[in-house]
Amino acid sequence: MAIFAGCPCCVGRRDFSAGGLAIASAPLAAERALSQPRSDTVAAAKAPLPDYAPLLPPITARAWPVDPRKGYLVKELKTNIFIITDGGYQSLFVTTGNGVVLFDAPPSFAQHISQAVAETTKESIAKLVYSHMHVDHIGGGGEILRQNPGIDIVAEDGVARFLSKQSDSTRPVPTTTFKDEVTLTLGSMEAHMQVGYWHSPPGDLFIYFPGRKVLMAVDMMSSSSVPYMGLDLTMDMDAYIKVFDQLLWYDFDILVPGHHSNPSTRDDVRLVKDYVMDVYRPMRRIHESDHRALLSQAAQKYGAENSYAIARVLMDSEIAQGSNEIIGRWMTKLNNVDVWADSHCRTALVFYEWDIGRGSHA
Ligand SMILES: [Zn+2]
Ligand SMILES: [Zn+2]
Repeated sequence: MAIFAGCPCCVGRRDFSAGGLAIASAPLAAERALSQPRSDTVAAAKAPLPDYAPLLPPITARAWPVDPRKGYLVKELKTNIFIITDGGYQSLFVTTGNGVVLFDAPPSFAQHISQAVAETTKESIAKLVYSHMHVDHIGGGGEILRQNPGIDIVAEDGVARFLSKQSDSTRPVPTTTFKDEVTLTLGSMEAHMQVGYWHSPPGDLFIYFPGRKVLMAVDMMSSSSVPYMGLDLTMDMDAYIKVFDQLLWYDFDILVPGHHSNPSTRDDVRLVKDYVMDVYRPMRRIHESDHRALLSQAAQKYGAENSYAIARVLMDSEIAQGSNEIIGRWMTKLNNVDVWADSHCRTALVFYEWDIGRGSHA
């Protein structure tokens, strides 16, 4: 069983694993002893926690076990193509005969990456590619550069422009950039990289190894759970809905989606696509249904002029209805449906109400 895989983007660099909590607690103990707990944190700790469903055993059994004492696992996916994971995050590295190309450096295990590469090959890291700009996937870049001075850092133009404005030492500014797409070659490796916009505004990457049937595309799904909060934090749901068909257009049998331990299959992609469409379609129906009774009730309670309160009541009702339907249909098929279904319904509702509109037949 994988160690904690809490992971995704908005969790960022916080380590919630059992080991992480234990490690964090020791140096903080003295500091805590010197100060009284804040009343708000005490209240939060005493608040009852939600009763989320346990992980589904058949899905969890597919997870690759990561030795918590080692903190990472390296597996050869195809000849010369390796995945490294800590159970929560994934990155990829490829040996080429002319140096290793590393794709992403999550800070959760970045300190182990150079060692993991050294255990696998005599080649040293020559290039680091950023899949997108989020700190939780590339925020170990500074550590990789410190351990491997002078390496080439590659990113699409949008990501490079964003990072050049950040002055973030954990995400060094790329030294090689490209616009839209490029085929990156080094030694025996050929990686075709194409920009997409399903997740982060500066751009995401489809990273495809032709002839090897390996595809890396980060932060739209994983092979064990529903997408993370808000359909994996997408800033463009129109692009997000389309990304699953874009993935399936590639001739791959292994997808590295950036999260959890084991990579995904084509069937995993189809299953998550079905889930996402099953979130979107009911929200459209629910939004178009008759809400006059609820609106009247809200207007009586808050006053007809209190339009924000009335809008909030309507949205909460729509989201709760959609979430209940989704939970009823998907709890036995994917993990964490009850954790994120309401956030997915909210994203779908916002997309339908503000982006698509009732006049659209899309
Ligand atoms: Zn992520
Ligand atoms: Zn991300």
